[in-house]
Amino acid sequence: MHKARKRFGQNFLIDHIIIDRIIATIAPKRDDNLLEIGPGQGAITLPLLDYVEQLNVIEIDRHLISILESLERSNLIIHQGDVLKFDLNILPTPIRVVGNLPYNISSPVLFHLLENLDKIKDMTLMLQKEVVERMAANNGSKIYGRLSVMMQAFFDVQMIFTVPPESFNPAPRVESAIVHLKPLRQPKTKDMKALEKVVKLAFSQRRQTLRNCLKSILTQEQTDIELSQRAEMLTIDNFITLTQDYETQH
Ligand code: SAM
Repeated sequence: MHKARKRFGQNFLIDHIIIDRIIATIAPKRDDNLLEIGPGQGAITLPLLDYVEQLNVIEIDRHLISILESLERSNLIIHQGDVLKFDLNILPTPIRVVGNLPYNISSPVLFHLLENLDKIKDMTLMLQKEVVERMAANNGSKIYGRLSVMMQAFFDVQMIFTVPPESFNPAPRVESAIVHLKPLRQPKTKDMKALEKVVKLAFSQRRQTLRNCLKSILTQEQTDIELSQRAEMLTIDNFITLTQDYETQH
């Protein structure tokens, strides 16, 4: 028996109806290059193994790895380590990423995956519902922020369904949700780093105007976007325009 480790964000899925719905959402095909983040005790891994020729998983907890190894499944390829340091270049592409993510590091994991956008076909992830809502939020909403802009500039973000705490053991304190992310056919910008810089600064003080937040990089004379607004009012396309105007200056 494995005792759940809090520091690794371990909340294991125990609800078979939810597991079936996740598998149906992924709709795995035989030759898909699946990467599962945090397979744990195999709640999603085991059903997936029945569908695909090969399943790569990355897991940090050595004890869980020995449980997974004892399954002796020839199509399961186990990588031990931290997903944040995991080099996706070693995997066949395009990669379909799946996983019930450790909630304590969900934002850094999302940004690590974003950096590997060119290799990704799609992602089906379980996250805190609140994080999924932030990812999918529209401008004008209080929860619209850096995560919303960075995700929506590169992905179509769809919340698929919510999952209650009782579906896990131990039960997390929060509600969860399944999100599907599909890279946009035409990413809104090629310069992810510049967008990231502008977005980070723009939301650095949510109550301040853009003029204040962006004063170190852009003035009103250098852009048609009205800088008397707050960052949360700007659409994704407005942020792209701001980024282009910033790049023209630098
Ligand atoms: N997939 C299993 C399930 O649904 O029951 C486990 C999900 S649990 C929420 C998160 C999993 O991610 C755990 O197995 C945990 O050990 C693993 N994990 C935590 N931090 C990690 C990291 N930095 N890199 C890789 N795996 C990690």
